[in-house]
Amino acid sequence: MRAIYEITRPKEYLSPLEEPLGNMIREWAEKEVIPRRRRFDEDWRDHRLIEPAFRKLMGEMGMQRAPFPEDLGGLGMGHSEHLGINSFLVMEEMARADSGMAVSYGVTFWPLFMICNEPHVNRRLCEEFAPMFCATTEARFAANAMTEPQGGADIENLDLLRGSTINTTAVQEGDEWVINGHKLWPTNTGGIAHLFGVVATTRLGSDDPRDFAFILVPADTPGVTQGDPYEKGGMAADKNGDVWFENVRVPVWYRACGPGDDFKYFKEIISIGSLGSIAMVSGCMLNVYETLQEFTSRRRIRGVPLKEHDAIGGVLADIVRDMEIIRITGYQYARMIDRPDLYGERWSEEMVAKGRVYKYFACDRAVEDLGRAMNIMEAHGADREWDVEKHWRDLKIIQLWMGGKQLCQMETARWFFSCETL
Ligand SMILES: Cc1cc2nc3c(=O)[nH]c(=O)nc-3n(C[C@H](O)[C@H](O)[C@H](O)COP(=O)(O)OP(=O)(O)OC[C@H]3O[C@@H](n4cnc5c(N)ncnc54)[C@H](O)[C@@H]3O)c2cc1C
Repeated sequence: MRAIYEITRPKEYLSPLEEPLGNMIREWAEKEVIPRRRRFDEDWRDHRLIEPAFRKLMGEMGMQRAPFPEDLGGLGMGHSEHLGINSFLVMEEMARADSGMAVSYGVTFWPLFMICNEPHVNRRLCEEFAPMFCATTEARFAANAMTEPQGGADIENLDLLRGSTINTTAVQEGDEWVINGHKLWPTNTGGIAHLFGVVATTRLGSDDPRDFAFILVPADTPGVTQGDPYEKGGMAADKNGDVWFENVRVPVWYRACGPGDDFKYFKEIISIGSLGSIAMVSGCMLNVYETLQEFTSRRRIRGVPLKEHDAIGGVLADIVRDMEIIRITGYQYARMIDRPDLYGERWSEEMVAKGRVYKYFACDRAVEDLGRAMNIMEAHGADREWDVEKHWRDLKIIQLWMGGKQLCQMETARWFFSCETL
């Protein structure tokens, strides 16, 4: 039986941390997550089972310290030459066990990357927030508050709409920002977040990139209210909910990068979000592959294992074909993120568009493949015992976020065909 590491990765790109980091996350997943994950669905509100697994990984093993500089207690990922490759590895390993945990962990870094990543390190904000993540063994979460009730895709459609649809306002009064607005859906809300990165406008309706603001807001600041978590069709480990900001006051220097640069570097978060999404798709697929190996070898039809039948072999081949391509494409994009000297900056229109291409390709293929995997497992495909229906639900959710498939298509067409109105 082939092992999952035989699904190809470009070995020449892998970082020196590949083996220790991969083994550490896999060991954690095998021990803390996989034996319990089937009960996560019922734990969506309380996180009684989910929280200890997060605490272990993020707090005790210290993974939440990753983006911060070493001298502040961090692991220095913000200046690592392998940020993309290592992120892909970690997110893939986590999603093999539970993609809800992977997104919760990954999104914690979105606001932190805005202040920790070279070349836009905001040292003062790193010093301000490093203790929150680095001086504790409790799990700490951050949320990227972007989506609003009137729509998320338009806000993420940065190159066309340039923040003009954002309704959350940040008004400078003296040496403070006063923030007002309502956000929906941010990962790590529903009471979880300790820190928010808030997407706001300094001038309602403006499409001037200098008015796009990304401001850090500790969750216990007066005027911040997190609603109850939504009950979703999957990914119970990721809590999502409403967040209200009512006359929330933070110091002016809590703005991540400043006028123009918040807009520019927020696009890096979109690229990294696409990368993480591909890694999660690949991780879910790796686990489905393991299950299909077991199921189609054990199950017999007309006296021979299922996998020995032509019709089934064809489906298995198609699924593993897609896994090979998704994984190698994901690693290639990670490499592109790590080599701006060859591929351009992470926040360029080209890199954002290419991330969208790979993300929606991976999601489309995986959602279709999971349907086919369940077909060949028949009733067992729907049986929670096998965890395939779990990955099926989660993969569909990965396809939906970050503006959904349509925004991916628009940004792809816009870049490759120089469309002017998409
Ligand atoms: C599990 C999960 C986690 C999430 N995490 C976060 C998070 O961390 N932070 C956050 O801010 N949000 C988060 N979201 C919200 C998510 O990013 C938004 O749902 C998404 O961006 C789409 O926004 P919307 O739902 O408002 O749909 P809308 O923006 O209203 O879009 C509706 C439909 O229009 C399509 N569309 C978009 N542009 C075009 C176009 N030009 N032409 C035609 N159709 C178009 C979209 O693809 C979609 O199908 C999360 C959502 C989920 C499910």
